[in-house]
Amino acid sequence: MIEVLSPAELERAEVSGKFIGDTLRTLRERTRVGTNLMEIDAWTHELIDAAGAESCYVDYAPSFGSGPFGHYICTSVNDAVLHGMPRKYKLKDGDLLSLDLACSLHGIVADAAISFVVGTPKSDEDLRMIEATEAARAAGIAEARVGNKIGDISHAIGEVLRGYGYPVNTDFGGHGVGSTMHQDPHIPNDGRPGRGYKLREGLLLAIEPWVMAGTDQLVTDKKDGWTLRSKTGSRTAHSEHTVAITADGPKILTA
Ligand code: MG
Repeated sequence: MIEVLSPAELERAEVSGKFIGDTLRTLRERTRVGTNLMEIDAWTHELIDAAGAESCYVDYAPSFGSGPFGHYICTSVNDAVLHGMPRKYKLKDGDLLSLDLACSLHGIVADAAISFVVGTPKSDEDLRMIEATEAARAAGIAEARVGNKIGDISHAIGEVLRGYGYPVNTDFGGHGVGSTMHQDPHIPNDGRPGRGYKLREGLLLAIEPWVMAGTDQLVTDKKDGWTLRSKTGSRTAHSEHTVAITADGPKILTA
């Protein structure tokens, strides 16, 4: 199902988006070498409760995961790229951390992800990988305009990621957002321009490029049944914003 939001719903989406953007900023500021991933989960739980928001993750149980997620945020470290389940792990100097958060506030969901290095970066490649996902996200968002098609967003993202030299996996990508977290249309991180669903005013899209150095193959963590890692153990990055399609162009809600 594709939901088209009314102007009143889009106003509520802005409130959700601001909460997600602010929360990710707060979590990033608090996170340092030695922070436990379980602390980040607990902080997120507190911030969600304080705002009267609803977690999209805690009871989330799709076919690709092993039962309800049971946590409030995805914490993906180094070779983990998506759906990183919080666990007892103290962040080390130079770890590459991605935080992905989706919540509903007043009935509308916003979804965003950031990647950053904890402490001192170990290699320029880590920073370059983060830069690639952020540049691809910006390129995808620039195409999120009335009259364009989903393929225009996909193509713009893929061009940037491939330009940086990263292989692109299209199994998991962006998606529509609205009263629930994952809706149609699916937005693969590569594709052909001019193809797919035609964008219209009132659509809310989560645009989320992610990469793994030197591979496009994922493996699911056997222990938790959720965390997706690069098959080769190479490092990874992920950046996401929720964007509203408006008559005046794309509006980033989770900045
Ligand atoms: Mg997300």
